[in-house]
Amino acid sequence: MSTNSPVIVWFREDFRLADNEALFAASRIGAPLFCVSILEDGKSAMTASDWWLGKTLTTFDATLKVRGGALHVCRGNAREVLPELVQRSGARTVLWNRRYDPDGRETDTDLKRTLRDAGIEAHSFAGNLVHEPWTVRTQANQPFKVFTAFWRAACQIDDHRPVLPAPENLDFWWEDVSHWDRWVAATALEDEMASLEWTRPLEAHHEVSESAAHEHLETFIDTALSRYGVERDFPAMDATSGLSAYLRFGQVTPRQIRQAVRERDVRTGREKFFAELGWREFAWSLLWEYPDMASCNLRSEFDAMPWRDDPQGLRAWQRGQTGYPLVDAGMRELWQTGVMHNRVRMVVASFLIKDLLIDWRLGERWFAETLVDYDPASNAMNWQWNAGTGVESAPFFRMMNPVLQSRKFDVSGAYIRRWVPELAALSDRDIHAPWEAGTPPSHYPAPIVDHAGARHRALDAYEHVRKSR
Ligand code: FAD
Repeated sequence: MSTNSPVIVWFREDFRLADNEALFAASRIGAPLFCVSILEDGKSAMTASDWWLGKTLTTFDATLKVRGGALHVCRGNAREVLPELVQRSGARTVLWNRRYDPDGRETDTDLKRTLRDAGIEAHSFAGNLVHEPWTVRTQANQPFKVFTAFWRAACQIDDHRPVLPAPENLDFWWEDVSHWDRWVAATALEDEMASLEWTRPLEAHHEVSESAAHEHLETFIDTALSRYGVERDFPAMDATSGLSAYLRFGQVTPRQIRQAVRERDVRTGREKFFAELGWREFAWSLLWEYPDMASCNLRSEFDAMPWRDDPQGLRAWQRGQTGYPLVDAGMRELWQTGVMHNRVRMVVASFLIKDLLIDWRLGERWFAETLVDYDPASNAMNWQWNAGTGVESAPFFRMMNPVLQSRKFDVSGAYIRRWVPELAALSDRDIHAPWEAGTPPSHYPAPIVDHAGARHRALDAYEHVRKSR
């Protein structure tokens, strides 16, 4: 047992041993490690991504225990808790990997200043992106507003940082902290989430750990990557990586993913897959530039949009009861699993915004509560993209037809049958638009809106925006 003053490693969105710059640097200092995570209290509601985080804390604690350590979880405001941990443990150094969301940035900047003012070494390292969000810029040092230009520039930047291995030897600080008033068990959040009825179905769909992330990655490379470019838009095909939540909580890094793909030398599908990871980088660069991207139209003329107040329509959409099978399948998949296929995310977003003419921010919030992979940058960017309110967006007047999308991307209806079982007996032709079947199933709702009529209504609303410019 070591009695040296420890180095604190503060884990936030980086629950992994490998390719973890803060942990790697800490392991080289020669002082025992005090690994901590802080659960911010005062949240108004528990979300599906809290469920993922709860599992993450438990499994990462177990991983550290195998190496002879533990994850010490505290509850409270990080601005108060971290200085207290420093003071009580006698730590002289605190390390963390950067996070880039607006609140996190502000907290971390304040904390770094507070700690340094108190004579403590506080250092941060590059976070869970290939490129820091402020580094990919135009020649005039402006942020990119178009993905293709962003990605072209990003691909030209030398990525000189090595993908780090897990540190070989970790020496942990072993003071008993369980009597500290801020301390909670590493399983506390998982237990709390397990007591919520709605989290039960999530259990069957995810294995949450660093090793599970890498197994997922290997399986994807072996079985689906070469088909990715062709099949990624088809929700029944299982042709995407399923890595988004692991990326969000740092169980795998984008640089590890790129390295694994390159090592296996799978060429087909590779560039398309890398470009999708590039969208994630683009989203974070936008959020860095526009911190209020989740709440404000990036194109301010849309502030004049006459959104409808329609609680019933919103509820039908949330519950997968709109009468449009592909929309309902997607929303039910989301509720049951905490994820939804990307193509279907686009269809349900378009339906809420354009068919129902409901403010995109209500959809953004629902996804924030129900996605296990909820990511403030990707979610906000994609909602604004679909609403036509973002920097690079599909124009508002381009509406997705939920029936045509269904016929094109779920040709045999296999995805709909999986999530809307009451339609399973319909033919491959009728399943996309049950109201056209001779006898539509009585236990499935009729469409809550007529798509053709809704299209006119949306275009009229858009005209209002154009005139008020
Ligand atoms: P893959 O196809 O295997 O892609 C690999 C990785 O690339 C993903 O894990 C993700 O990190 C990234 N990626 C892929 N597509 C996008 C995209 N359009 N934008 C940004 N990154 C992308 N993704 C989230 O991670 N969190 C969100 O909160 C989120 N909200 C979304 C909301 C809407 C309305 C839409 C249309 C998309 C949203 N996405 C979000 C993007 C995308 O749907 C998911 O990243 C993807 O479905 C995750 O599945 P996968 O890991 O199998 O993706």
